[in-house]
Amino acid sequence: MKLAIDLGGTHLRLAFGDGSGPWQHTHRSRRPDGMTPDTFVSTIGDVLAEWGIERRDVDGIGVSVAAVVSAGGHIVRAENLHWWEAPLGRLLCEAFGRPVVVETDVYCGALFEATSGHARSAGSGLYVSVGTGIGHAFILNHQVWRGAFGGANALGHMVLRPEGAACYCGHHGCLCTTASGLAQAVDQPPRGALVDLAQAIAAALTLIEPEIIILTGGALSQPWFDLEHLTRLLPELTYPGIAQPALVVSDVPDPNLRGAAMLLKEIA
Ligand SMILES: [Zn+2]
Repeated sequence: MKLAIDLGGTHLRLAFGDGSGPWQHTHRSRRPDGMTPDTFVSTIGDVLAEWGIERRDVDGIGVSVAAVVSAGGHIVRAENLHWWEAPLGRLLCEAFGRPVVVETDVYCGALFEATSGHARSAGSGLYVSVGTGIGHAFILNHQVWRGAFGGANALGHMVLRPEGAACYCGHHGCLCTTASGLAQAVDQPPRGALVDLAQAIAAALTLIEPEIIILTGGALSQPWFDLEHLTRLLPELTYPGIAQPALVVSDVPDPNLRGAAMLLKEIA
């Protein structure tokens, strides 16, 4: 059985199972402020102990994290976690002695959607997660595209207004300063959120022309989000020569966890 972990901007989710059917155990909690990689690892051990799961019962650990991740599960930057250059994969290997794969959360969600979800019959797609922050992943030729070095996931940091509000990434006027869970906490309702989201998605469509757009994330339940309005806006903002893709809001409740378990598919 696999241990799947989803470490997001506001939450921590764990699940134990084979990833294809119902989970045997699940855990969900708010991520404590100030959680470090070391306290994260000790929390995982605490949850396993609560479940009565021995380390030898864990075939592998798949981690979905809101971060840019390089080889070996090394966290390059995770602004919402305040983690920079953290050897998360190594720490988990040392603590549990099991195979570990760490991947950016949107790549996990897109992997699930490309393999078993809404994009399983599409060769190309744009996956957009609108949560605390906004991330994206492209599915190209049935594969999740990570970029050359793992960083092709930051639709929320597309700069739309260089004179706009400061963003936690260090720039100004990023998409997520208007259309994200963080933005709603500052400005309610956030002004221009839907049009900004449409502009950013339209730029991606014009560049790639995917078959499908898959939207997911807790911030889609905010009052400003309107799927029909977004559907009307996109053709006005994209190059007329591209085919408009199908646009769906995913109904998969835990795509990051499912994708994290899929990272370990080579493990029995
Ligand atoms: Zn930014």
